[in-house]
Amino acid sequence: MSSIFTKILNKEIPSEIVYEDEEIFVIKDINPKAKIHLLIIPKKEIPTINDLQKEDKELLANMFFVAKKLAKDLNVEEWYQLHFNVWAKWWQEVMHIHLHFTSDL
Ligand code: 5GP
Repeated sequence: MSSIFTKILNKEIPSEIVYEDEEIFVIKDINPKAKIHLLIIPKKEIPTINDLQKEDKELLANMFFVAKKLAKDLNVEEWYQLHFNVWAKWWQEVMHIHLHFTSDL
């Protein structure tokens, strides 16, 4: 079954896609915890960080390069935060890794 993020990517669920390339897309978090709260998501469905494979190295690096570009484009290079949650042993809402990008600038 597709994750909710893949459904967004496939336009089965509405959400504004603010950035997209061949392997990554970015949406606004539906429940923002900061002035800017974006989710940087690989198109490949990887359930959690614990499931990363060596072949995902470049993809993961590219997610950080997208974050860097967003920070520049949004003019928040001075202060922003990036984080992954891993809830592997508990109930997890979205089993599809996503890098949280937040800024209150
Ligand atoms: P997690 O705790 O898994 O790292 O965070 C999941 C994030 O996805 C949460 O911040 C939540 O608000 C966001 N989210 C969950 N469902 C949707 C959705 O349908 N659309 C958008 N844009 N964000 C979602």
